[in-house]
Amino acid sequence: MSSKKLATFLAENLEDLKGKGLYNVIDPLESANGPMIIINGEELVNLSSNNYLGLATDSRLKEAATEAIQQFGVGAGAVRTINGTLKLHLELEEKLAQFKQTEAAIAYQSGFNCNMAAISGIMDKNDAILSDELNHASIIDGCRLSRAKIIRYNHSDMDDLHAKAKDATESGLYNKVMVITDGVFSMDGDIAKLPEIVQIAEEFDLITYVDDAHGSGVLGKGAGTVKHFGLSDKVDLQIGTLSKAIGVVGGYVAGKKDLIDWLKVRSRPFLFSTSLTPADVAASIRAVELLTESSELNEKLWENANYLKAGLVKLGFNIGNSETPITPCIIGEEVKTQEFSKRLYKEGVYAKSIVFPTVPKGTGRVRNMPSAAHTKEMLDQALVIYERVGKELGIITE
Ligand SMILES: *Cc1c(COP(=O)(O)O)cnc(C)c1O
Repeated sequence: MSSKKLATFLAENLEDLKGKGLYNVIDPLESANGPMIIINGEELVNLSSNNYLGLATDSRLKEAATEAIQQFGVGAGAVRTINGTLKLHLELEEKLAQFKQTEAAIAYQSGFNCNMAAISGIMDKNDAILSDELNHASIIDGCRLSRAKIIRYNHSDMDDLHAKAKDATESGLYNKVMVITDGVFSMDGDIAKLPEIVQIAEEFDLITYVDDAHGSGVLGKGAGTVKHFGLSDKVDLQIGTLSKAIGVVGGYVAGKKDLIDWLKVRSRPFLFSTSLTPADVAASIRAVELLTESSELNEKLWENANYLKAGLVKLGFNIGNSETPITPCIIGEEVKTQEFSKRLYKEGVYAKSIVFPTVPKGTGRVRNMPSAAHTKEMLDQALVIYERVGKELGIITE
């Protein structure tokens, strides 16, 4: 017999979410996740993916994945420590370390898993973690899992971080103290103030941890936010994902050899969850090679992002203070933001609305993610639709 308590819990809470307009209906794609996508038979300009460099559908990656399947099969067969480590995994880790200019790297099944693995692999209940209030959900969960004391500081507020770092280290309550931040914040596209963070970390001997999911492949000519600031030897843990700019799936931690050796014997997603498939690994290796060989895709991404941003500003939209290709179009009121996104969709642009509680009340936005794979024609098509819908809803003036 199934649980009545569970049935009631689910029915009530689903009802509640639907009543508040917070129940998300997912649109399945009928095409690859490229710069144009097909949903419900309609072709749309896709401004919603994290596939920054267009690598998710790149023929060179597809070829590498196909070859790896032919040679090694579709699954790795075990966790890394039993016999799920193929030579390919080690090759990927070497390439990632070179790319990040660190001594070593370790690959995980996802970026989310990296934060589960690395934070709780290093920190415990005798420690404290200083965490930016806008950090990604997986950082928050990783911190919770570690059982360390979590001390949130105001978003990118270096005075607040300094004061809290001083308090935490001088209190004598904690063994180790870590500062943890996104490299690029995905809702506004702003960059963490890493030079100041590193300076504060040096003053108080903090462990530095940067989750660069949105910075890798984008900043620092592709090598990420830490490289962008020239701090490769000053950040203890750099997290990256293989699922955004790299276009595949997986994640990695890059840092000193001792750190990586430790994570290989102590981090639980590495020890207790099957490793990345041969196809994922081979495609990721190819992607890292491409980024190392040439900055062409990275340059194209920035060119497209700047083009889209300039176009939206010229039309009169508020695009906030993004410093990266992430281009929010700030509408404000929640209901209007959702209506705007729906109208864009009807007209042929797929750009998702993001509203409270993901972002503060009254700052609802439609978030645009241009990529290297978009053509000028696609972006122009999107801008024409933005103009039409913006005028129709009175967001920009005639
Ligand atoms: C997307 C993201 C992740 C999760 O990465 P996946 O590879 O998709 O699991 C982790 N951290 C940050 C900051 C992210 O933006």
